[in-house]
Amino acid sequence: MEDNFLPFALPFIEQEEIDAVIEVLKSGWITTGPKTKQFEADFAQQIGCKHAIAVNSCTAALHLALEAIHIGEQDAVVTTPMTFAATAEVIAYFKAQPVFVDIDPITMNIDIAKLEEGIALVKKRACLKNVKAILPVHFAGYPAPMDEILQVAKNKNLQVIEDAAHAQSSLYKGKIIGNISDITCFSFYATKNMTTGEGGMITTNNDEWAERMRMMSLHGISRDAWKRYQADGNWHYDIIAPGFKYNLTDIASALGIVQLKKSNTLLARREKIAQMYDQAFSSLPSIERPPMGLADGFQHAWHLYVMKLNLATLSIDRDRFINELKALRIGVSVHFIPLHIHPYYKERYGYKPEDFPVAYETYQRIISLPIYPKMSDADVERVISAVTRLAKRFKR
Ligand SMILES: *Cc1c(COP(=O)(O)O)cnc(C)c1O
Repeated sequence: MEDNFLPFALPFIEQEEIDAVIEVLKSGWITTGPKTKQFEADFAQQIGCKHAIAVNSCTAALHLALEAIHIGEQDAVVTTPMTFAATAEVIAYFKAQPVFVDIDPITMNIDIAKLEEGIALVKKRACLKNVKAILPVHFAGYPAPMDEILQVAKNKNLQVIEDAAHAQSSLYKGKIIGNISDITCFSFYATKNMTTGEGGMITTNNDEWAERMRMMSLHGISRDAWKRYQADGNWHYDIIAPGFKYNLTDIASALGIVQLKKSNTLLARREKIAQMYDQAFSSLPSIERPPMGLADGFQHAWHLYVMKLNLATLSIDRDRFINELKALRIGVSVHFIPLHIHPYYKERYGYKPEDFPVAYETYQRIISLPIYPKMSDADVERVISAVTRLAKRFKR
């Protein structure tokens, strides 16, 4: 059989990225070094923030951010259940409590109307834990309601750490994500809007946290330890704390420098694909489309295109719909299986599916369609025609 499988995601790698990596490989310096410094400087400039710290994943970035604000065993961190494992596991690293707040049914971001109530519930549910931070996720690249989140944080004296794994180049009220709250964490995983294979970036305007995160990202040893094998380096170093091994290589940074330069073009293509889907599905009552047409000053990064099935109008469920798309050789996914229904969170924290009814109900009808710059118009049309055909064939 002809292999006409359309993958769910593919990175956008051109000759320029390949050349940049080869240059580093030939240079004799392949781990953290001048390319990483340049990547950090380029990224900080694009965001307009004071500090950008390159690390080897967004998970590492989130871990370092929570360490910098001194999360401990007595603390709780408020986040959304509609996210990837990384967002909450980093809270558990500190034996702190992840506290979920249900999502908005349209944007699938944390529901601001339930945020204060969620914080108030912690005292009851988690006994002695103190809420110390809010960790919003910009779901799919749609900016979370930052003004309201920052207001709650201010009233209750909490820190805000953003999981911006989907939100590289998202805008909120004219401000770029990465320069809004205390600390922001980005991902350059293979499927993300820009990639370094594996990688991440932390942005902040706070000098003290920046210095702590930089130091902890490389074994907790004194500043610029990566220079110790360079001509102007010094063999001596001091270990200040038991840090981590989270530094990014120059091989990865070389990729990142090129990808960052292309991010506007890559975003434009993602946006175009979202528009094609939006228009095509507007006449299908069984498909609920993600929100488009954000107000001036807002930008959706379109990391994901998550459609919702209107199950009442269909004779099949979401799992069957996915199997039918698979049979048509189209790769799709589900973002996300809410964290609170996974065995660890159920067993460790006693969460029940109905604790976050919107996340649970939404989960049962979401499908993420392929959306990436490497897709041709013909690829997009193929997805559209498959979804349309199934929506009609299984109309109740
Ligand atoms: C991908 C992702 C992460 C983790 O990123 P890594 O770079 O793979 O560690 C964290 N949060 C969300 C919401 C993600 O989608």
